[in-house]
Amino acid sequence: MTPPTGDDAPAGHVDVLIVGAGLSGIGAACHLRRETPDRTFAILEARDAIGGTWDLFRYPGIRSDSDMQTLGYTFRPWTGAKAIADGDAIREYVRDTAREHGVDGDRALGAVPEIPARHPDAAARPTGGRRYPLQPPAGPEPRPPAQKLP
Ligand SMILES: Cc1cc2nc3c(=O)[nH]c(=O)nc-3n(C[C@H](O)[C@H](O)[C@H](O)COP(=O)(O)OP(=O)(O)OC[C@H]3O[C@@H](n4cnc5c(N)ncnc54)[C@H](O)[C@@H]3O)c2cc1C
Repeated sequence: MTPPTGDDAPAGHVDVLIVGAGLSGIGAACHLRRETPDRTFAILEARDAIGGTWDLFRYPGIRSDSDMQTLGYTFRPWTGAKAIADGDAIREYVRDTAREHGVDGDRALGAVPEIPARHPDAAARPTGGRRYPLQPPAGPEPRPPAQKLP
């Protein structure tokens, strides 16, 4: 995959491109860092902050539906006082996890991958942000999907 390039984006080829710095994207980055430290990766995040849902929604009373022992990361168990946690506590948990694993700098904020217009997901792409065209690795053409047997 060819690099997002830009002032604050990692340059060069990366093995894995993570789209989104929410609970999932930061979790994926931490797993990569912990389990495959030789693999390179970058995170593109359309918004200007880490946290996804938990940064976006700030209304009073926002909290998780399930307990944080279940929703949290297995590699960094939730130790907060409340099992059903408030949104700001979850946002801090995601940010602290990113910081502890050194993946809070591996993102380009306000950046989205360019999705070709013909792609089925193109209509759903965020409208703002700097756009980074992606180039898949050179290699053999992907094989066509297997035919269904009658
Ligand atoms: C009030 C509330 C309570 C919830 N409680 C629970 C719960 O108890 N248990 C549970 O499992 N889930 C719960 N959820 C769902 C919750 O959203 C998820 O659990 C979790 O936060 C999703 O994390 P995520 O990283 O997958 O997605 P998100 O938090 O949505 O993060 C995705 C990130 O990707 C970025 N992004 C998206 N598209 C692009 C693009 N094309 N380019 C660049 N960046 C992009 C977005 O800006 C965003 O920052 C709850 C949600 C809400 C609102």
